[in-house]
This record gives sequence, C-alpha cells and structure tokens, in this order.
Amino acid sequence: MDRQAPFGDAYWNPQAHMPTARQQRLVIERGEGVWLKTTDGRRLLDATSSLWHANIGHGRERLARAAYDQMRTLETYHTFGRTANLPALRLADRLAEIGPVPGAKVMLTSGGSDSVDLACKLARRHWQLEDRPGKRVILSRDHAYHGLHAFGTSVAGLSYNRDGYGTDSLVPETARISTNDLAAVRRRIDELGPDNIAAVIAEPVIGTGGVIGPAEGYLEGLQALCREHDILLIADEVITGFGRTGRMFASDRWGLQPDMVTIAKGVTSGYAPLGGVLVSPRVADRFFAGPDAPIFRHGLTYSGHATACAVASANLDVIEEEDLVARSAHLERVLDKLVEPLRDSDLVLDVRSGAGFLAGVQLHPEVQADPIIDACLDQGVLVRVIHENTLQICPPFICTDDDVAGIVHAVEHGLSTYTGPRP
Ligand code: PLP
Repeated sequence: MDRQAPFGDAYWNPQAHMPTARQQRLVIERGEGVWLKTTDGRRLLDATSSLWHANIGHGRERLARAAYDQMRTLETYHTFGRTANLPALRLADRLAEIGPVPGAKVMLTSGGSDSVDLACKLARRHWQLEDRPGKRVILSRDHAYHGLHAFGTSVAGLSYNRDGYGTDSLVPETARISTNDLAAVRRRIDELGPDNIAAVIAEPVIGTGGVIGPAEGYLEGLQALCREHDILLIADEVITGFGRTGRMFASDRWGLQPDMVTIAKGVTSGYAPLGGVLVSPRVADRFFAGPDAPIFRHGLTYSGHATACAVASANLDVIEEEDLVARSAHLERVLDKLVEPLRDSDLVLDVRSGAGFLAGVQLHPEVQADPIIDACLDQGVLVRVIHENTLQICPPFICTDDDVAGIVHAVEHGLSTYTGPRP
C-alpha cells in the first residue's frame, strides 16, 4: 500500500498561514547573482535579498570553495572554555577591526535571534556585576523586530509576535519606547525609572517593522539619553550591518558608539548561518581581567562554527574587494529617486526610502498586497509584504541600476493593474 505523503508535506513554514503556504508554495531551486529560479520554471529578480541577507548575491563559487576547504580541514570544533578554532579567531579580530565599537570583543552565535538573546542577557549580567541589580528592563522601539527567541519575542515592537503565550511578555522586564519621538522616549524612561533599565535595543533602520529610517537626530539623541541615564545601548545591526546603509555599519553613518552591536545576515550574506555580538570594553573588560574575572555563562554548540566563520571571512573579502559598500551607497540614491513617485498612486499610503539601500512601499490598509505581489512575479520580480501592508524592497548590492528600475517598474505595474478593494 502506497501511503506516501506528497513531497514537502511535512514542512512547517515559519511565520506562515499553513493552509495558504502549502497551496501557494514558491520553491526556489537555484540562485545566481540577483536571479532566482523556481521549481515551476520562473526566473525572478530577488528584490528582497531573501530575508534581507543575500547582499553579495547568490551562487558565489568563492564562498562555496571557502566552505569546502574549511570542511576538509576541520568542519568545526567547539569554542567553549579554552578551546578555539582558527577561522573563529580570525573572524572575531576582523569584526573588531571593522566594527563601530573601538576595542570590541566578539562572541559569535548562529544567527540574529541568538545575538539579541546574548546581548540582552549580557546587559542584565553587566548591571548585576555593577551591583545595580534593579537594572533589568530592556527597552525597545515600537515597530521593532529583534528575532523570535524569548528575548526577541518579548522586545518585539510588533505586538502580534508577542501575543498568545499567556503573558504580555515571555521575559517580563521589557517595555516599548517611541519609534522616533525623542521627547516621548525621555518621558518613558523617567516613568520607568532609569534605575530599573538595563538597556535600550534599537535597529538603526527598522526593517521588518516597515522600513523606517531614524528621524533627524533620533539615534544620536537616544545615545545621549542612554549615556545620561547609565543605560546600555544595543544597536541591532542584523539588517544594517555590512553595508546596507552605505557604510559598513549604520552606527558609523549615524555617529553611534553602542555598548553592543548585534550582527547576523550580511556577515555571511546567508551562505552559512552565523551571528555575533560586538561588545564594548565598558561591558567586556571585566570578563577578561584578572584571576577573579567572572564567567559569562552563555554559549552555543556552534558559537564560532569554523565553516561558518570561514565563509564569513570570504564574504567580507568579496565586500571589500568589490567595493560593495560604496555600491550600496550609490544604489540607495538610485532607488530613492525611482521609488519616490510611487507615492502618487492612490493605493499607496507612504513610501519610505533614503536610509540605506532599502525601501518600504506602504499600501493603504484596504488594499490587498497579494495580487500586487503576484503581478510583480509575472514581471519576474520577487517582493514580499511586511508589517502594515508594506512592500519590502531590499535588493542585493550587486544589482545594476537597471535592475533597480526593473523592480520599481514591476511594483508600478502591480499597482496599475490592481483591481481589488481600494481605499
Ligand atoms: N534582528 C533584526 C533587526 C532582524 O531583522 C532579524 C531578522 O530578520 C533578527 C534580529 C533575527 O535574526 P534571525 O532571523 O537570524 O534569528
């Protein structure tokens, strides 16, 4: 008796309405440069860099070679205690050198949520060791997305990601601050009491929450508020790191010197799962000094995974050798100019761009995004919808100017052929 389930039947997609996802699966089979090929034979331009990570494009032989060579040498060896491996040590030194935190120490993880978890734990540990045990609350911005581990879920500024677990927050000591209103942030800090606050975590440019750049002076002001009140500042650069805002880190662009920086995605451009936290001397030094140095009781089997680290180093080589950070800065200007006129469509509520090589085209709430995305697919462009009915545009840095024009044109086509409900 043949009782085999259909191919892929067991796969449970993250963040998916499964009855729909199963019916409308789009299976990506190959990737080359900015182009994707699906199992049903479509050729699509990757207008979102997958989930904001495929910065150097798909299918690079050099990164495959780096993985192969490292696996043949040593796939990995753990880095708990005194043990280490060469690619992890090399990568950490390089990240400390190129990162926005002078003298940083680097703890590596397997991804962005891991990094957020680590940074929030370390912020709390820091204040315990400072003998200020009351400082436990982690603040995050409305609209923020910091991954979906328990800390990331708890500090999400997207309430639907926090709902349904029986309490308002898996980690209770968390609270929201205004996305871009500094005076409101100051009031909130006063209300909660700085003596209760361990850290603020902030994406310099909010990604999943709808592509929201910082208001003029907001990030600098947030940093000043943190300094004034002895609150650690964690810059979540999981999306913005490694060139997305036209500088290696967004912290460089907005003049931030955070106490911690979380990274993932662009560190390998998705060729291997890897994340990390760059930790400033203010927080790290005590763990490195003297026989009584405390131990940070945190780590993952794959912290400093040798193959992932070797792949990351090869990715950073590509970014540097091909001058892709400068390319991203150029493409930001191209995209900003082309995408702005979409505002004229009566289906569009807002267009947000100009804070890096990424944009959000927010549709009115009545408008159905799916037919517009399908129309883009028909034009050979893959976009997706994120928070508040916003179309995400965040292409790889290796796009041509014409590719960017093609993406915007596809969205334009989607808007002009739309026949569904209107505002
Ligand atoms: N932080 C930010 C700003 C992100 O955008 C993401 C993922 O999109 C994360 C953290 C979580 O990263 P991961 O999905 O690798 O766990």
